[in-house]
Amino acid sequence: MNLKTKYYNPDIETMERGELDALVEERIKYTVNYAAENSLFYKKWFLEHNIKPSDIQSHEDLLELPIISGKTIRENQPPETVDFGFRAVDWKDVFTIHETSGTSGTPKSFFLTWEDWERYAEKYARSFVSQGFGPGDRVIVCASYGMNVGANTMTLAARNIGMTIIPIGKCNFPPRVMTSYKPTSIVGSVFKLISLAKRMKVQGMDPTESSIERLIVGGESFPDESRNYVAEVWGCDVFNTYGSTEGTMCGECSHLKGLHVPEDLVHMDVYDPRMDGFVKDGECGRIVLTTLLPVGAKCGNVLLNYDTEDTTVVMDREKCSCGRTHMRVLNPQREAETFWIFETPFNRVDIEKGVFQRENMEYLTGEYEAFLYGGEDEGEVTLRVSLECEDAQNCNRQVIEANFLGSFLKYKRALEDAYIQGSLDIIFNYVGPGQLEFYHIKGRPKRIVDRR
Ligand SMILES: [Zn+2]
Repeated sequence: MNLKTKYYNPDIETMERGELDALVEERIKYTVNYAAENSLFYKKWFLEHNIKPSDIQSHEDLLELPIISGKTIRENQPPETVDFGFRAVDWKDVFTIHETSGTSGTPKSFFLTWEDWERYAEKYARSFVSQGFGPGDRVIVCASYGMNVGANTMTLAARNIGMTIIPIGKCNFPPRVMTSYKPTSIVGSVFKLISLAKRMKVQGMDPTESSIERLIVGGESFPDESRNYVAEVWGCDVFNTYGSTEGTMCGECSHLKGLHVPEDLVHMDVYDPRMDGFVKDGECGRIVLTTLLPVGAKCGNVLLNYDTEDTTVVMDREKCSCGRTHMRVLNPQREAETFWIFETPFNRVDIEKGVFQRENMEYLTGEYEAFLYGGEDEGEVTLRVSLECEDAQNCNRQVIEANFLGSFLKYKRALEDAYIQGSLDIIFNYVGPGQLEFYHIKGRPKRIVDRR
């Protein structure tokens, strides 16, 4: 097979581990030095802490540098400060400016040079090629073309590999788009892809008979159960990507053994919950990113040890069966979507897994929302799960509840005990199409609301 059709950048993507690690160290050294020379924040930090940038030689040495967060970025940009502390090029070299809104406060500003765009696009191009995309593919991008970089980066990546992009920017497009342009793929969310399939069926179109060859789900984490359901509804493979404006763009290859991290372009460390050291591979921890620049390159924004507030597990650094050597991680989860009850964490993904149990999908649409309430007495918690049904009168509640509980309480001994003893109450609420509370609220649906 022609290497060019199997890999986007064969030399880098299949680089032997020792060589790859050496390349990463070289880029860590260069990038740390670049940060100290070009970003106000790091210039000041190295001076104040009396550390020489050249002391940072390796991946372990990054532990000497501060961990920064979205809060640090906001504290080092207007209106808090006069200039942007993490901007690392002259204004004349800034090609685009972006903002990402977190859960609180002013949006964080990001600056990209054209070179940054090219590197970002390369990450997506590698991921697309690893999923079997190539010239002749026609891809509908449902992700929005706004201040975020995802949709634009995919579009640029498409130019590099000869694909056609249909930049709709949202998922509620008319099904005629499917018959008119015969797209081979769609980039969207689990729920948008399910609802599109439903709208097609209403118009007499069968999604499994459509021109779609594979789908890409990005932007949020999901359990295998919901991926499998989307794959079944569409009759094709569904791949996961994880990306952010800060520069991570990881994607599953067609072997579906975790998401490949483009190690030469972004450095990903996984920290323990106290944030004072790395966890071992195979253990869950916080994703901390460091920009990696090729020697001699510039970048608009430089971040060393940036806490993404997402969690993951490094699955493997050995060569994947696809031939790529770059490490693979589990689908990252958002820490902001993790909730604690009875000293046990659970994530939105755990709820979603319970909802999407295959048998449940005979009755449910997949749309759900959950609420946490404090009980009358201290130490009592109620989890209310609202489920949208095709027909709320005729759904087998016993089956749904048994499947949900079996999945949700599995591996969570403390929650199971609390449930059996009655201090944790899990109640189910069944509603008809369009009746969940989040439909009345603008923006991204909030799937779990903590009302304690
Ligand atoms: Zn692979």
